[in-house]
Amino acid sequence: MDSTSDIKSKQQVELAIKLENMSYKYDKTRIKPDLFVADWQVQARQHVFLKGESGSGKTTLLNLLAGVLVPNSGEITLLGEPFSQLSPQKIDAFRAKHIGVVYQQFNLIPFVSVLKNVQLAAHFGGTCADQVEQTLADLLPKLALSTDCLRQAAGELSVGQQQRVAIARALINHPDILLVDEPTSALDSAARDAFMEVLLALCNKFNTTLLFVSHDPQLQEYFKSRINIAELNTAQGDAI
Ligand code: ADP
Ligand code: MG
Repeated sequence: MDSTSDIKSKQQVELAIKLENMSYKYDKTRIKPDLFVADWQVQARQHVFLKGESGSGKTTLLNLLAGVLVPNSGEITLLGEPFSQLSPQKIDAFRAKHIGVVYQQFNLIPFVSVLKNVQLAAHFGGTCADQVEQTLADLLPKLALSTDCLRQAAGELSVGQQQRVAIARALINHPDILLVDEPTSALDSAARDAFMEVLLALCNKFNTTLLFVSHDPQLQEYFKSRINIAELNTAQGDAI
């Protein structure tokens, strides 16, 4: 049994994300880190809008929270677990079970079917086939996706459809934390509003903590909690 299986239920955990003196640099020979966050906490079930200029470290932060990058120093605690101290295998297991990610480019496997894309995520997250069917039956109509699209190759779908499939895939394991990176850039304003409403409703339904990254100021109206990465990332030196 892995160490992530005894994590408290969503109702019991109060802090979803906690960063302490967390530092990351791409080029280890440089002195100054690309990202340094002294102290930041996100309460469980909160929806947070994270904004910032291009190149300010938003994607880097999401990749650290997803365990794709590992901090050089400091701590990342997720759902009360010392995430940044886990072994690479345990980080993979934790991510699959507790974290959903919607990447800017969606990162679907283009040549396999939509269903297979979702099933693969479910498999890694330990969700059984029956549950996948049930969750998909619930999610597809909410995401305005037909069951016919399940058999299509993901790469054949429109950008808007791929985006909604990426959400279905990210939510299939009912994640505790959902990380979303600038997903609306390719959408017109009507599609963008529909997308935001669906996304927030699903996060409420699954008690999911949402960290939504965007540089689009119009989207922040959907969030009570908003933060500029310049306030967090003191490595940039020009915090507002
Ligand atoms: P944002 O998502 O806010 O646009 P990023 O997190 O992508 O910003 O980038 C933050 C900084 O880290 C930038 O200076 C960028 O050039 C640098 N950076 C991002 N990815 C890499 C990488 N793979 N290798 C080296 N530097 C990178
Ligand atoms: Mg980015």
